[in-house]
This record gives sequence, structure tokens and C-alpha cells, in this order.
Amino acid sequence: MSLDLDKRQRAMLREMGVRLWQPPPVVASPDVPPAIDSVAADAHPARAEGSFDAEPQRPTPAPAPAVRPPAAAPAPAARMPAAPAPGLAPRPAGIELMAWPALQAAVAGCRACALCTSRKNTVFGVGPAAADAAPAVDWLIVGEAPGENEDIAGEPFVGQAGRLLDNMLLAMHLQRGNDDATRAGVARNVFITNVLKCRPPANRNPDPAEVAQCAPYLKRQVELLQPKVILALGKFAAQSLLQDSVPDVQKIPLGKLRGQVHSYLGVPVVVSYHPAYLLRSLGDKAKAWDDLCLAMSVAPTVVRSA
Ligand code: SF4
Repeated sequence: MSLDLDKRQRAMLREMGVRLWQPPPVVASPDVPPAIDSVAADAHPARAEGSFDAEPQRPTPAPAPAVRPPAAAPAPAARMPAAPAPGLAPRPAGIELMAWPALQAAVAGCRACALCTSRKNTVFGVGPAAADAAPAVDWLIVGEAPGENEDIAGEPFVGQAGRLLDNMLLAMHLQRGNDDATRAGVARNVFITNVLKCRPPANRNPDPAEVAQCAPYLKRQVELLQPKVILALGKFAAQSLLQDSVPDVQKIPLGKLRGQVHSYLGVPVVVSYHPAYLLRSLGDKAKAWDDLCLAMSVAPTVVRSA
């Protein structure tokens, strides 16, 4: 797509670490990534995107073995307790019919998986203020799970990774809903959330059972928000959103899910790297900008009132 970037957007891209390379007119951009010119490090060391790709796949049930294992051997994938642990409770019924306020309340009080026992706050998401309805947004950003800062703040993507995400959004004429700064031509046209609404202890990877328990909340958020495009940041976000549309998505590296438009509940989905990973993997920032350009080509930014 053709990008007509003004000085402010160029500054935002410099903050992202993306140095713009200007192609000759009319010639399509070659597959030569722009240079990277910034350095940063921090954030979610235990949940780096690179480690996701390198992570061995969780064992799947094996076909009937010739020799049966001992009857008492526990299934390796069965992480959820067989009996309800103290403090846990069934997930609220009727999530698929909940209005926005009820959905917020359900998440705030949810004790459907063990993460409720260690969280400080649930992290429902952030977007423009809306009285009793879902915010009117065209963009939905889906990350993986709250980290330490997010758990404390009760808000997704805060800290250094959050600042990088904010700069990525500004490059797309977007800003998070509770950002008080007034910027010309920039809209609070985005809702930001995670697959998991509670922090995994020590920023460990989300457990499949936890993702399954929490998935109905994200599904209902998408149904109520009706975004024009979803940006899935990180492997677990991509896997969660694409598990019904991409065969064996758990076996596909994140890099191979990029560069194409997927679908979730009929909404276009573009996959990219998690900002926490980009903070340590400078060479992939240019690829992330390519992903944002793809997303913008799917859903051109529509400026809505704050
Ligand atoms: S992670 Fe999701 S399912 Fe688990 S307690 Fe939090 S809101 Fe409930």
C-alpha cells in the first residue's frame, strides 16, 4: 500500500526503531527490510516471542501404545486440577449473551482457573470510554496475557512494551482510549486486550487449559466490538484466534502465520510479533511494520471521535 507519512508519523516510526526506506515511485517495495536503528531491552523475559517459537510443543495424546503405561500415570497435558481447587468456581453462565457491562463484571469476578488465586487485578482491556455499550472501534489489538506491570495497573500493555505498542499505534493514527493527549488526526479507534485476563505467575507461558477457560470472554468481546480488523500480537494470541481456522496452528511458527490475512468470527486477523519480543529482537521491527501496513490495507484507519 502507499503510505503518505507526515513528520509526526515518521517520528513515531523512529521510536519503533523502523527507519523508513523510500522506494522509487510506482515500484513495489522489495523484500529488503529497512535498517534498524534503536536499542532496547526488557520486559517479559520468560515470555519472549523467540522462546515461543523455540518452545517444544505440548505433548498431544499419543495413539494407543503397544504397551500401556501404568494406569496411575497422569496425562502430561492435564494441568487443570481434577477436582476444583480451593477458591475456584465455574465460569459464569451465559457469556455468549452478555452485554458489555455484564461481561466486564464477569471477568472482574471470574475464578474459573487457578490464575485468579495469584492475580492482583483482572485485565479486561482498554479502549475509548463508552457508557453502557462496547466502545465503537475499528481496531482490536489482542496480546497474550498480562505481565507484572499490567497485573498491577489492571491495564494491558503498560511499561516499555506498552510504550512501543503506543508508538506503533500512533504510526497508524491511533492512540489508546485512556490517553489524554490530544493529537490532530489521531483517534481512539482501538481496543486493546489479551487472550488471558489474568497474569500467569512469573510471566510463564499461558497454559492451554487457562486459554480454553478464558476464550469465551475474548470471543464475546469480539462479537460486541465488531472490529474491522484484529491484530494478533504473539504466538499465543495467534494460536488462540486461529485454532478453528488454521489446521495444526500450534505447530506453525509465528513467522509463517505473518504476511497473510486470517479470519476469526468473520473478522480479518493479521498476525505480528509481540512488542515485548520486538524490544529484544530489533531485526524484526521492520517486519512488524510490514504487518501493520498489511493490517492498514485491510482496514484503513477511520478517524472516529474520541
Ligand atoms: S484467566 Fe480468565 S478464566 Fe482464568 S480466572 Fe482470569 S478471567 Fe477467569
